[in-house]
Amino acid sequence: MKKKKTVKDLALSGKKVFIRVDFNVPLDENQNITDDARIRAALPTIKYVVEQGGIPILGSHLGRPKEGPDPKLSLKPAAERLQELLPDASVKFVSDCIGSEVQEKVSSLQKNDILLLENIRFHYKEETKNHKDFAKALAENGADLYVNDAFGTSHRAHASTYGLATHFPENARAVGLLMDKEVEYLGKAISSPEHPYVAILGGAKISGKIDVIQNLGKLVDKLIIGGGMAYTFFKAKGYEIGKSLLEEDKIDLAKELLDTYKDKLILPVDTVVADEFANDANKKVVDVTEIPADMEGMDIGPKTVEQFKDQLKDAKMVVWNGPLGVFEFENFAKGTFEIAKLLAEQDATTIIGGGDSASAIKKAGLADSFSHISTGGGASLEFLEGKELPALSIIADK
Ligand code: AMP
Repeated sequence: MKKKKTVKDLALSGKKVFIRVDFNVPLDENQNITDDARIRAALPTIKYVVEQGGIPILGSHLGRPKEGPDPKLSLKPAAERLQELLPDASVKFVSDCIGSEVQEKVSSLQKNDILLLENIRFHYKEETKNHKDFAKALAENGADLYVNDAFGTSHRAHASTYGLATHFPENARAVGLLMDKEVEYLGKAISSPEHPYVAILGGAKISGKIDVIQNLGKLVDKLIIGGGMAYTFFKAKGYEIGKSLLEEDKIDLAKELLDTYKDKLILPVDTVVADEFANDANKKVVDVTEIPADMEGMDIGPKTVEQFKDQLKDAKMVVWNGPLGVFEFENFAKGTFEIAKLLAEQDATTIIGGGDSASAIKKAGLADSFSHISTGGGASLEFLEGKELPALSIIADK
C-alpha cells in the first residue's frame, strides 16, 4: 500500500486550507462536549497548517441531522473547545458551511485565524449523496488547498470527503497527519505485515466481518475468533450452543471457513455462560462442547484466555477487531480485558480496528500502550477488507 500525499507535501504559507476534520463529538443534553478526543486528534494537522503560515477552514459533520439544521447538533461548542485548546490562535465560527456569509468570512481571514464551518450535514442529503452543486458551493468558499483528516468517514463518498476534493488540482489535495497514521498502520496490516502475524476477530456477528475474515485469513499466520460470532462456528461443528448468538444462515459459511482456514483458525475452548443477557445474571464457566440448552455464551473462559495468550506470545504483529465478549457488562468483560492487557505489554506492532474494540481498550485504560488504535469503525473494517476507501482514492500517492 503506497503512502498518500500528506499535508507536509503542500506549500501552505499564505494559503487557505480546507481541512475535513472529524469533530463528531458526543454531547450531553445541554450541548456540552463529554469527550473531546476527536477534536484533540485533529490538533496536529491544524497546528501544523498554522505553524506553516496557512489558514485552516475546518469542516465536519456532527450526528445525523436528517431533517435539516438542528441547533442540538451545532458545531459551535466544538469551536469554543478548539479555542480553549489553541489559545494562541483566533478561532472563528460561521453558522453555515456554504453561501455568501461563509465566503465573506473566508476572504476576511488573517494569519493565525482558524474558521470552523457549521455542521456540514445540516445539508444532509446534499452532503451524504455527494450532490454536485453542493460540492461546488463548498469549493466556492475560497480555499486554495484540500486536506482530509477525517478517517471515520473516509469509506463514504460524501460531498466534503469526495466531491469537493475534485474541485482542487491533484497537487492541491492531501491527507492530514491523523489520516496518514491510519494509512500507515492499516496499510501495513494488509500489505506488508510482520510475521508471526495474528488477527483477533470478535464482536457480535460473522455477517459484518465475512470480508475481513476472508482478506485477513489469507495474510495471517493465525486467526483467532471470539465474541458472539464464535457460537455460529460451534454450531457448524455440531455443538449445542444453547441460547448463544446464532446466525442460522451463516452456518454453511462457517463450515467453509473452518475448512479453508483449518490450519490457522483458533476458536475458544471454554466460555462463560449466563442464564440471561444481563450483568447480574447467574453465570458459570463450561467447555464449549457443554453449553447448557437454557444458557448463552457471554465471554471467553479462563482456559481460552490462556490458549489465546499462547498463540499471541511470539506474534510480531497483531490486528484486533471486535470484543471477545459482552464487555459492556462488567461481569463479562474479563476475557476482552485480559487479552487487551497482554497485547498492551507485547513487543509487537499492535493495531486495533475502531468501534467497540477501541472503546474496550480505552475503558481498560490501555489506549497508550498500542501501536495504533483506529479512529474509524466502519472505515477500518473496509480498509482491512482490502477495499479502496473513496476519500483516500481521491488523494494522490506519494
Ligand atoms: P461488532 O460491532 O460486530 O464488533 O460487535 C460488538 C458487540 O458484540 C458488542 O456490543 C458486544 O457486546 C457484542 N458481543 C461480543 N461477544 C458477544 C457474545 N458472546 N454474545 C452477544 N454479544 C456479544
